[in-house]
This record gives sequence, C-alpha cells and structure tokens, in this order.
Amino acid sequence: MTRAAIKQIDLEAIRHNYRLAKSMASGAKAMAVVKADAYGHGAVKVATALAAEADGFGVACLEEAMELRAAGIDNRMLLLEGFFSADELSAIDELELDITVHSPHQLQQLLAADLSRPVNVWLKLDTGMHRLGFNAEQFKQAYRQLADSEKVAEIVLMSHFARADETACRATAEQIALFNQTTAGLDGPVSLANSAAILAWPEAVGDWIRPGMMLYGASPLDQPNEASLRLQPAMTLSSEIIAVKTLNTGDSIGYGATFRCTRPTRVAVVAMGYGDGYPRQAANGTPVLINGTRCPIIGRVSMDMLTIDVTAVEHVAAGDPVQFWGPDLPLTDIAPHCDTIPYELVTRLTRRPPRRYIG
Ligand SMILES: *Cc1c(COP(=O)(O)O)cnc(C)c1O
Repeated sequence: MTRAAIKQIDLEAIRHNYRLAKSMASGAKAMAVVKADAYGHGAVKVATALAAEADGFGVACLEEAMELRAAGIDNRMLLLEGFFSADELSAIDELELDITVHSPHQLQQLLAADLSRPVNVWLKLDTGMHRLGFNAEQFKQAYRQLADSEKVAEIVLMSHFARADETACRATAEQIALFNQTTAGLDGPVSLANSAAILAWPEAVGDWIRPGMMLYGASPLDQPNEASLRLQPAMTLSSEIIAVKTLNTGDSIGYGATFRCTRPTRVAVVAMGYGDGYPRQAANGTPVLINGTRCPIIGRVSMDMLTIDVTAVEHVAAGDPVQFWGPDLPLTDIAPHCDTIPYELVTRLTRRPPRRYIG
C-alpha cells in the first residue's frame, strides 16, 4: 500500500443497525434506504449484505435502482421521489420498481402510461415539510384516481418529517395528526418514519419504516436516547501520520496561517484532506484519534494533508494510525466542528480513499 487513507465499512454493523430499526418497529416492514451510494458506504455492497433480510430498498433515482438490479438485488425497491420524467416508466415497469407519486403532474403521467403490470404507488402527503407531496385536498382525490386505476396495485400512504430529529419539538406530532386526519377512511399501509422517527417517535412507526442514516450507525437525534446509543458506527475513516515536527511559539501552520502556536507545539502531518472528502470547514479544534487520545486539528485542512496538535501524546511517529471517525469517535462529535451533519460527512467522501469491507 502507498497512501494509507482508507474507509473501512463494517457490514455486520449495518446488519445490526437494520435489526435494531426493525426491533424498534414491532411488526413493521423496512425499506432500507441506500440512496447516494448508501450514504457513501457503497450501495451494491450494502444492499447485498442486507438482501437476505431487508423487506425492500429505497433509492433516489432510476440510475441507483438500475445499479442494484444489475447487481442481482431483487428485493422490493422504491424510488423515493418517483420518476422525474415519464419516459422512465418503461424501465420502472421492467425493473418492477415501486414509485412515489407526489404531484398532480406525476399522477397524470402515471395514469396515462402504458404498463405491463400494475405498479405499487407510495402516495405522498405533504404534512408540513413543504417540499414534495400533495396537500390534504389533492391527496384524497389522487387516492381515488389511483384506487380506480387498473395500472395501480398497492397504494402506500406516505409522508415525511421535517423535524423528527428535534426530540422536544411539537412539529412531528402535528404532522402525524394531519396525516391521520387526512388518511382516515383510506385503505393502505402507512409509511412515515425516517431514522429520527424510528428512534424517537414510536407513534410514527406505521407499516413501513424507512431507515437511512441509522443503518450506518449515526444518530440524527439532537439528544442521544436509549435506542440511539445501541447503534454501531459502520464506517471508520482513517489514515496515517506522514511526518512529525516541533514548531516554536509564534510559528503559524498551513495555508492562510489560520493557526499560530502559543507554545512549543508538536505537530503531526496526516495524509487526509478535502481531496478525500474530509471537510475543509473542519475548524481548529476538530478532534481526531491518535493512539487512543483525542487530538485537535490545527491549521487549515488542505487537499491531501491536515495537521494535528500531538503535544499531549507521548511517542508519536510517522506511520502511526489516525482515526477521523468510527466506533471510537462518533460522526455526531465531528459534524458540529464542521458546521454540518453526519449525513453530509459520509456522503461527500470522494473515491480517493479506497473502501475496505469487513463483516
Ligand atoms: C432519505 C430518505 C429517508 C431516510 O432518511 P434518514 O433520515 O436517513 O433515515 C426516508 N424517507 C425518504 C422519503 C427519504 O428521502
């Protein structure tokens, strides 16, 4: 091996997290969300590892579904935003995909389509996210049209939460109430819960949960709870020290000299940078793990390297491993230093650090 930067993915941890999601939702089925290349963990590998037990997989677009079907994944599969253009419908038909229907425009295109078999539709109600979905009035009408069409098999009643990660916020309860009120009297399985709702809002479980981030072992919640503490981080991002040096009081480090030493400082230079997808926004003080000790990043993250204050650690040498996140350094501890969320940290990694799978 040359450069040591690597992302290690623990597939057994992902299976553990899937089972935890299922156990939180007694009896409900789970659409394991593997969009955006399984949040940077590798969609084909993750779906293959879960294929024997997952009730289905959720993806963001036809290309993502095609990749999984081509790899032999034949579980039920949902396009979370449905189709973007009506000419996707023949491939949707051929690949036997479930589709979300979220707008009158999409509904009309579906009803006019030429399909070889009835399609499962996840009919989306906008209960307050105000992004995709029918409003309450349109929703009932859309439901009737779908129920009357022989092009449609099952209709799943679906919505999505805007603030389920905020455990003390009333918005989720209000979204659930509007959903229940609007769908009263309509037949069909219910699907509301993303990871945050699975972990914190048991009344949102319904018939189909849609766990995404929690499969990869990071909690979206603003406060950990008993369930979120049982998640197992699936990805370890690590690399190695390539040089160690001692700087004097007053010396600055890196581009823009954003950090100046206020004392003699031992600095480790590590092979990791924004070219690997590690965020350039990581502020001075963002922790990394070296020989079991949390040490702060000092100076700007550059494309291929970053710099760590290792004054507090004895016996640091070139070749020592450095962990950026993983089982001993949760993504939830790193994200606030980078002005972002765990989702973005894992999703925007580049392909330069190779993936290694275990489990
Ligand atoms: C991405 C997505 C999910 C999964 O969300 P997480 O917060 O990662 O659990 C669920 N439902 C829909 C519609 C999504 O787009």
